[in-house]
Amino acid sequence: MDPISDFVLPFQLEKVSIRGRLVRLKHSMRDILERHQYPPLVNRLLEELIALSAALANLFKFEGVFTLQVSGDGPVRLMVVDITHEGEIRACARFDEEKVLKLPISTTSIHPIVGTGHLAFTIDQNNIDERYQGVVDLSGTTLSECLHHFFRQSDQLETGVVAFSKTEGLNTSDYLAASLIIQRMPTSSGLSFEALEAESDGWLRSLSILGTATAKELLSGDLSAQDLLFRLFWEDGIRIFENRPITAKCRCSEDRISQMLKTFSTSDIQEMIQDGKISVTCEFCNQEYVFDPQILLK
Ligand SMILES: [Zn+2]
Repeated sequence: MDPISDFVLPFQLEKVSIRGRLVRLKHSMRDILERHQYPPLVNRLLEELIALSAALANLFKFEGVFTLQVSGDGPVRLMVVDITHEGEIRACARFDEEKVLKLPISTTSIHPIVGTGHLAFTIDQNNIDERYQGVVDLSGTTLSECLHHFFRQSDQLETGVVAFSKTEGLNTSDYLAASLIIQRMPTSSGLSFEALEAESDGWLRSLSILGTATAKELLSGDLSAQDLLFRLFWEDGIRIFENRPITAKCRCSEDRISQMLKTFSTSDIQEMIQDGKISVTCEFCNQEYVFDPQILLK
């Protein structure tokens, strides 16, 4: 058993230049899903997106917020996950409930769910105006495939990624979502032909191992993260670093929302008044905030 239930675990392989991240989530996922009560199909896709976000965010050095977003013209119009450098994660989705409920629960391809659209990620750093952004068309049958596509298309490091969410037949100790990502690191320029070939072979071998990783392995509460990584990558030697906890936490507050409302025009504020008050519900955590319009109109 892993002592921390929700975490991202950084690792690297010793014999080849590859680094990776394993994410396993349980309580944070339950917290997020219970606040929303979305249909199962939306939950499943959101779970994968959350697990992928936690892994991806940890590959970047930043102080601020990493956001991964999927938008399209299908029944699910938008899914947003954001995570701070401290591992505080939140997520929400916008969708047409009637259309989502018409889709078979067994739908695994993202296309009928999200339609044609984009996957985008941004990094907003504290105290830095510049924003890092990556966008790619949704092409592929899973979110992981879309991410592959992104890394291939952009000038990024070669990357392999899988994500799973809880399916039938798992135990209560199991994780609700997990992801595994590996990335090929640049090698020094002075490598011999043989060494380069060994690096290349090592990368292909690791990619194929990643392809064999099953939902059961990644989500099993009986298999520790260390044992899982060793089982998969023992051949190339594995060094595992300290894990970083992930928690479900929204960053909304009465102060933030009133600051936002104060930027609205008087007529917009007046339109929002119902029964003498203005109520705003945070889309990420469903927390309701109620304001006295007189204070906002001052
Ligand atoms: Zn909130």
